[in-house]
Amino acid sequence: MAEKKQGEVSVLLNYAGSFKSLTFVGCVLSVIAMLMGMVPYICVWLVARDLIAVAPNWALATNISTYGWAAFWFAVGGIVVYFAALMCTHLSAFRTATNIRKQGMARMMSAPLGYFDNNASGLIRNRLDGGAGETETLLAHNLADISGTAAMLIGVIALMFAFDWRMGLACLLAAVISILMLFSMMGGKNSGLIAEYQAAQDPMCKAGVEYVRGIPVVKVFQQTVYSFKAFKEAIDDYSAKAGHYQGEICRMPQTINLTFTEGAFVFLVPVALILAPSALASGNFAGFITDFAFYAVFSAIISTALAKVMFAAGGTMLATSALGRINQVMDAPVLEIASEPVAPQGNRVEFKDVTFTYEGAAEPALKNVSLVVEPGQTVALVGPSGGGKTTAASLIPRFWDVDSGAVEVGGVDVRQIDPHVLMDQIAFVFQNNRLFKTSILENVRAACPEATREEVLAALSAAQCDDIIAKLPDGIDTIIGTEGTYLSGGEQQRVALARAILKDAPIIVLDEATAFADPENEALIQKAFATLMRDRTVIMIAHRLSTVVGADKIVVLDSGQMVEQGTHGELIAANGLYARMWADYNQAVQWRIGVGTLEPTTTDGKEA
Ligand code: ADP
Ligand code: MG
Repeated sequence: MAEKKQGEVSVLLNYAGSFKSLTFVGCVLSVIAMLMGMVPYICVWLVARDLIAVAPNWALATNISTYGWAAFWFAVGGIVVYFAALMCTHLSAFRTATNIRKQGMARMMSAPLGYFDNNASGLIRNRLDGGAGETETLLAHNLADISGTAAMLIGVIALMFAFDWRMGLACLLAAVISILMLFSMMGGKNSGLIAEYQAAQDPMCKAGVEYVRGIPVVKVFQQTVYSFKAFKEAIDDYSAKAGHYQGEICRMPQTINLTFTEGAFVFLVPVALILAPSALASGNFAGFITDFAFYAVFSAIISTALAKVMFAAGGTMLATSALGRINQVMDAPVLEIASEPVAPQGNRVEFKDVTFTYEGAAEPALKNVSLVVEPGQTVALVGPSGGGKTTAASLIPRFWDVDSGAVEVGGVDVRQIDPHVLMDQIAFVFQNNRLFKTSILENVRAACPEATREEVLAALSAAQCDDIIAKLPDGIDTIIGTEGTYLSGGEQQRVALARAILKDAPIIVLDEATAFADPENEALIQKAFATLMRDRTVIMIAHRLSTVVGADKIVVLDSGQMVEQGTHGELIAANGLYARMWADYNQAVQWRIGVGTLEPTTTDGKEA
């Protein structure tokens, strides 16, 4: 276990960079401080010896004021040096935490985008930020204290032989028992238990976030909180593990440990009583009393030091679990970047026999999918929910990389293209576009930082956002998400479209929204889509089949496989899955509004 701990400390210290040496300086200073702190006790012994030697003519003890001052200055010096030690270790600890955060963020920047779908941002934050913070106790306090305590134990052993080894041994025995108890709580199989019990926090945190998010649903459907089984189970699990470890494993050892830590003198008194008769007989009773006085006072220092070790044990455990969480972030997959990137030629998009499985999934989300989108074409992906449409679309900008086969843009495997070049070439509008909590101007400009105000306005106008801007208090400078300036889902979608229009990328990947059913918004969104798609290569995930009728090609995905492809007319004639979906769709539309076949490029709100 000691070896493992060493490993962790050095892993953590590697993050400190050039500040690493400060930690060592801090530890050395802490050793010096501890040794200085022991000097006053020796002074006490000297004073006692001189006083007893001259008793009862106290005036003869001329050296005692010198000892007194020495004790004073060493005590003060010890505190000052300890303070300096902590300064050093803190500087290094803060630098370590900062560097962990920086490197973690850098790591996140190179993770594939899909990673953030599967790892909630709150969880990443908790792991990285929380983890970095939790290493502080160990690095800033515990390492220095452990060094100091080690020095103290050596000092105690030395002093033991300097005065009376039997009474020294009695003091040491209490310390040894305490330390053994500490190890029995944390060592061996129990270290696994601790890790398990700390790891149980993660699901609890995750389920807690889910729970808060789900409160509206609970209220609307009049359910009890017990419907949040996952959250309750996570808490129960954590509580059971914490209870088992704290209650069953730690109770006895901790009781014994505290008894001997606080009562380091328990063995000293009986030992002294046993030794007293022979000391009397030997005639050096004065010396014996002096030694006893020394150890009685000295046992206090052992208590203090052991309390620090206990504190250190807690800090070490915390740091171990923190490091585990930090490593989860640092072990995030890396989007591999080609060492010699190839520039794509044109805007053709092709899937060549693509198979892709999500991590941990039993079945591939896409199986041997091949399809071609010629430059300037609009290709629609349709199919039942869960068919793999979103997955296919997200492989193009490398949210994930394929298991086998290849996705090509401009005739080049996307893995061979410089990610920046790839991103410049593609604009995506996904269902859950997130707007930043900043002005509309900046939100749209995120796509193209050098765009002028006029260009942003033009893009917003093209995305049919004029009505949104007109009603906002500060126009495009209104901060979204502040008082009274929340945008509806459909409005957000339009702002996101303005962003994509401003980006002016030749390839558009579009996941059409289904959720925003209010007719006015839908008509405007269709209009914005039309502007965005003009003269571009488009891969569109369509949920309302009315928008795909005019597509150059319709690809039907079902259970991860491409079951059909062709134009609307061809697929209707083939009388397969698409024809069935089309019939269902028309029935639904007729039920709703009476009629409905619309060209995606000319949908002027007719559907409304
Ligand atoms: P569609 O967009 O056609 O509704 P998706 O591409 O979203 O379908 O999903 C295809 C399959 O992959 C589904 O079985 C879904 O459960 C699974 N899936 C989607 N996203 C993830 C993810 N981030 N992690 C694991 N599995 C996923
Ligand atoms: Mg989808």
